[in-house]
Amino acid sequence: MHRRPWGVFLAIGALAVLLASGHVLQEHSPAVKNAPVSRRIIALTFDDGPDPLTTPALLKALAAKNVPATFFLLGQNAARHPDLVRAVAAGGHELASHGHRHRFPNKLPLYELFADLTQAEEAIAVAGERPTLYRPPGGGYNDAMVDALARRGYTTVLWSVDPRDWERRGAAQIAVTVVSRASPGAIVLLHEGECAANTPEAVGMIVDRLRAEGYEFVTVGELLRHRETIK
Ligand SMILES: [Zn+2]
Repeated sequence: MHRRPWGVFLAIGALAVLLASGHVLQEHSPAVKNAPVSRRIIALTFDDGPDPLTTPALLKALAAKNVPATFFLLGQNAARHPDLVRAVAAGGHELASHGHRHRFPNKLPLYELFADLTQAEEAIAVAGERPTLYRPPGGGYNDAMVDALARRGYTTVLWSVDPRDWERRGAAQIAVTVVSRASPGAIVLLHEGECAANTPEAVGMIVDRLRAEGYEFVTVGELLRHRETIK
């Protein structure tokens, strides 16, 4: 009996140390790189659009295979091409934000990041949707930024497969890299624009080969909903 108070003191002491170090109370929403799922589901994502060269070609390639994808649109490009933003939404794809001016968010004060996000939201709103997924340009992030974004209603989305398509790679090379690195719950980083001109062609190859391996294509939003239920 006489030992019990020591146990209580130790427990209180340990709790105090944890609280002081922020391990218990800190509310932390991690950036998402992939989804822990057992099913063979995978998400294709396209950054930096919309773009007059690649967006129509991507929409055609995705429609031909009946594949939904997630477009991380750049606000300034969305403002220039509202018809393409509407076309992406009309194609059944998920509209997400890549910020307005492609600024690296981990190097910005929060108020500037939020102002950039607001501008992007207004440009993307022509399609009637407010995005809830955000991909930081350059992939830079920190915990404080991710938490602030979460309080604003955004999930920060990174990727787990990067074929570096923006380096003007050929379609076959892009496809081989994606297929060889694919795994259940993966998020594939692809791009729009002139530097990624071969990406629409690669999409058809990626879909055919991964479907042959039993993969199903979903949007990032759907991938994350599976994460919550499957674990
Ligand atoms: Zn980008």
